[in-house]
Amino acid sequence: MADEYVHVTCHACEGAGCTYCDRRGWVEVRSPATACKSCEGDCCIYCGYTGWAGLRPKYDDPEASSSCHAP
Ligand SMILES: [Zn+2]
Ligand SMILES: [Zn+2]
Repeated sequence: MADEYVHVTCHACEGAGCTYCDRRGWVEVRSPATACKSCEGDCCIYCGYTGWAGLRPKYDDPEASSSCHAP
């Protein structure tokens, strides 16, 4: 079963857009969205400074996977 991801507001910028969320103001995290256990939403290295646990890895982006992962 594929992981489900939900969009949540980036805690580092509170939706304004910053480098941690690719200036979108939100990030994708594994559903159900939970705050980072290490910082409880305060942003730390473990959550990529977004304040969320289960952050979707950038290499998991389907738009980027077609170019360099071909067999
Ligand atoms: Zn941000
Ligand atoms: Zn954290």
